[in-house]
Amino acid sequence: MKFETLSVHSGREVDPTTGAVTPPMHLSTTFERDADGEYPRGFSYARAENPNRRALEECIAALEGGSEAMAFASGSAASMAIFSLLRPGDHVIAPQEAYHGTAKQLRDILAPLGISHDFIDMTSLDAVNQALDASTGARQRMVWVETPGNPMLSISDIQSIATVAHEHDALVVCDNTFATPVWQRPFEHDADLVMHSSTKYFGGHSDVMGGAVICREPGALATQLRDYQMTAGNTPSPFDCWLLRRSLTTLSCRVRAQTATAALIAEYLQEHTGVEEVFYPGLTAHPGHDIARRQMRGGYGAMVSFCVYGGRQEAFEVASRLRLFTRATSLGGVESLIEHRASIEGPHTLTPENLLRVSVGLEAATDLIEDLEQALA
Ligand code: PLP
Repeated sequence: MKFETLSVHSGREVDPTTGAVTPPMHLSTTFERDADGEYPRGFSYARAENPNRRALEECIAALEGGSEAMAFASGSAASMAIFSLLRPGDHVIAPQEAYHGTAKQLRDILAPLGISHDFIDMTSLDAVNQALDASTGARQRMVWVETPGNPMLSISDIQSIATVAHEHDALVVCDNTFATPVWQRPFEHDADLVMHSSTKYFGGHSDVMGGAVICREPGALATQLRDYQMTAGNTPSPFDCWLLRRSLTTLSCRVRAQTATAALIAEYLQEHTGVEEVFYPGLTAHPGHDIARRQMRGGYGAMVSFCVYGGRQEAFEVASRLRLFTRATSLGGVESLIEHRASIEGPHTLTPENLLRVSVGLEAATDLIEDLEQALA
């Protein structure tokens, strides 16, 4: 079945009891046993499994082309679930441009537990090779890929990284939040695990937190992650699962429309004399454009970053003149957002002070461009 059909139908049947076309929400935390003590309907306790979570997980696994998905209460809970696979003496190779919260988990939570890391330029295969060679003493290695990167939209070559990582018996994880499976399916490029902040495009309306981990194939990793989910207990509520499953039905339409507008905005900004540099992988001038063209499925996502002339002050001034772009963190919602990333990324940030990151929403492209025009004037 095609992506759009899966996004409507996977894990979303007509309710057999009532005939309700929209699936009901199941708030019960506990489920009845049979007289023999078994659970013939497959549900026992909501932390272990819930019908709304099962529906969401089935759909996410189908959209990413994986074998199984586990839903979590946030993207950060999903990345921690993946890091729970590691033990003291293990090593993570992560991008310099990793989402700053993921980088903080590596620094503040994993390093004190004896799990080391390197932050490297993940766009350079030489740097990946060097980091793999330098960490041969590690017990288990994990290569963390995030492409397009945040907030510079740098592009890493998932397939090439997976090839060298697998030669070194390292696991490859891809944070696919920015691209979404509409535009990028990391399992087609040999990633072992995919993760999402479902708070972003999966939710799509800035009203639900969530995260997901997807396994390429059944086996020990999937079993360990499922066990972690049940034991750690950082699962999403039935309502959050219900909202997310509903939102996935429109994922493709939303992401395609947002991407079309983002491409127009990137082209507009590229021509603007008040803009120093634009970062959008769909632009032929972007250094990762050729890889993105091969790796992504015809679209480059709806995130655009740009540098204004000047510094922090000038960037703040442009953002404050905008009327349709809300100054707020996060991304992937129906409303356009703008953010000065350097000020929220903390002391380790490599983001230029004059950079603004835009999450393009579903407003008319002409209105957004007109707004940018007056703000940059
Ligand atoms: N990964 C990426 C690329 C993100 O942008 C974010 C959040 O901004 C996360 C992970 C963490 O997700 P959450 O905020 O849902 O915990």
